[in-house]
Amino acid sequence: MTRWLTRCAGNWPGPGSRRTAATSTTARKRDLTWLTHCGDGAEFLGLAGAKELERYPDAVDDLRRRCAELTWPPDEVEDFLGSLHKDDRPTAYLFRCRACATHLAYADFT
Ligand SMILES: [Zn+2]
Repeated sequence: MTRWLTRCAGNWPGPGSRRTAATSTTARKRDLTWLTHCGDGAEFLGLAGAKELERYPDAVDDLRRRCAELTWPPDEVEDFLGSLHKDDRPTAYLFRCRACATHLAYADFT
C-alpha cells in the first residue's frame, strides 16, 4: 500500500495548504488532510470503510478519480477501495462540500 500513497499523495491537498489553514484547526490537530471543494474547506463527516462508502458513490468516485489521474491500474484501485475499513487501515476520510453537498474522500496510510 506504500506504493499507492507515493503515487497519489502528490495529487492531494497537503495539510499545510495555506488556503484552508484558517478553517482547519481541527484538521491540523488530528494531522488530517482537509479536502476542499467549491473554493472552500469541506465538512468532515468521519471515518469510512468500503461498506460506509457504498452510501456515498460520489465520494468513491472522488477517490477513484484521484488515482485514475495518476494512471493507477483500475483493478488495483478497485482492490484498494474494497480493502478500506472504518476501524482498520486503510481508512477513508469522508467529507461533504458545504456549498454543493458533493461527497469527497481521501485515505492515508501513515
Ligand atoms: Zn462543492
